[in-house]
Amino acid sequence: MNKPAPQTANYNSADAPADASARRAVPPVICYPNDSLPVADLETYRKARGTAVKTGEVLVPARDAACFEVPAGHFFRISSVEGPQVGDLNLWNKNDLAERFYSGKSRALHGTHITTGERMWTSFPYLRPMATIIHDTLGWYGIDDFGGSVHDVIGTRCDPYTGNLLAGNQYHYCCHSNLTRALADHLGVSLAEAEPHVHDVLNVFMCTGFTRDTGQYFMKASPVRPGDYLEFFAEIDLLGALSACPGGDCSSEHSSDTASCHPLLVEMFAPEAGTLKDWISPPVNQYDGSHGR
Ligand SMILES: [Zn+2]
Repeated sequence: MNKPAPQTANYNSADAPADASARRAVPPVICYPNDSLPVADLETYRKARGTAVKTGEVLVPARDAACFEVPAGHFFRISSVEGPQVGDLNLWNKNDLAERFYSGKSRALHGTHITTGERMWTSFPYLRPMATIIHDTLGWYGIDDFGGSVHDVIGTRCDPYTGNLLAGNQYHYCCHSNLTRALADHLGVSLAEAEPHVHDVLNVFMCTGFTRDTGQYFMKASPVRPGDYLEFFAEIDLLGALSACPGGDCSSEHSSDTASCHPLLVEMFAPEAGTLKDWISPPVNQYDGSHGR
């Protein structure tokens, strides 16, 4: 069977106006200059972390997901333990699942990938920091020659619907399904009730970018190795779900059982009382919600 040519950006240079070069030469401006974002007080967080004791851990099995809870003012760490593995992270306000991680706005505020000092922000109408990254052992990676970097907020999560659309298959261990099963079990609800709560993720340890020629989303082998970790401060009471992606290190494919996969470890830590000094859990966004009426 003849395969159709892959679809790429359909740019038609024949339509270019006479001043096309001048229009293209206009320099970009940053959409959301983030110098007015409230700055995370990393020094206080790290001092408190220095006093913290471990309160629990969850081992997320390969090609599966698990839930965990972290009270506001505590810490959690996601570690690579047995081999290179990426994780798809969902976070909710533990007390109100309507408030959840907003990947798109976190991307608009911080960039395509997030690292130390940057935050995971919640959905409208709350829009407040829910978790702050305080340590990233892959912070050295930066942006590589392909435009790739680590811990993206550009991918969504691998899911069985896209797999079915592109390949016609029925695969049940994509991150979307893993997160759905884990949340259903944690809340004691049906899969149908749990599924709408699953949302676009933080791709922990995943190395991704956009190709310069076609603008397509790409992935490449994650630089993560056992011992690497990403550590967070919980700004609000959190319910988390982490999936150990069936793509493994995402060097070749996902949405199948082909890749070599490993578990991921989540550990929770509580700081000594009083060590967070004046820190208070951030209030919800102060927009009045009247929308012009
Ligand atoms: Zn996945």
